[in-house]
Amino acid sequence: MDRLWTDFVNSDYHDWRGGDRSEDRLGKKEWQQRFLDEWEMSAPVPASPEDERTLRNFRNELQLLAIRLSAGDSLMDKDLEWLNAMMSEGQVTRRLNSEIDEGLKLSLIPVWAHWQQVVAEVAADFANTLVKGGGGRIRICDNSDCRWIFYDDTRSRTQKYCDDKMCGNLMKVRRFRAKKKVDPQKE
Ligand SMILES: [Zn+2]
Repeated sequence: MDRLWTDFVNSDYHDWRGGDRSEDRLGKKEWQQRFLDEWEMSAPVPASPEDERTLRNFRNELQLLAIRLSAGDSLMDKDLEWLNAMMSEGQVTRRLNSEIDEGLKLSLIPVWAHWQQVVAEVAADFANTLVKGGGGRIRICDNSDCRWIFYDDTRSRTQKYCDDKMCGNLMKVRRFRAKKKVDPQKE
């Protein structure tokens, strides 16, 4: 399942079928609006060129950090400093709500409706992932065309593909074909 921060980093979209539909969706106003709606945040759409630059720099840094952690690297002091700096760009207030199915819920409500606040929210969500599960469950989809970043919440911690039905099946078919090529007699 997508999280706020994985949805954000995956705005750098790669065509998982290996076609030419890869694109950086961050600058597209349709992506921006969908992202804000999905995660119940507000900011001006389209983002100004300056905001877009800020968002992209942040996204690329976060992507690199996620890739590093997925490879087994540990979190360094400079990563913490960076995350803290990104989170300091947004403020939150607290609200206690009573939800019909879930009972009482304490929420952090973003104060500002601008993209810096969004950066802070994404950084905080990533920080929460590190707090709750460590960086060891961050994965990059094993399909080299896809490279979708996701969080492995399977019990066995062995999820290799962003989606077994899509990338998992595609790779199975590719392995099968590669095998057939090597040994055409065996069929
Ligand atoms: Zn994938």
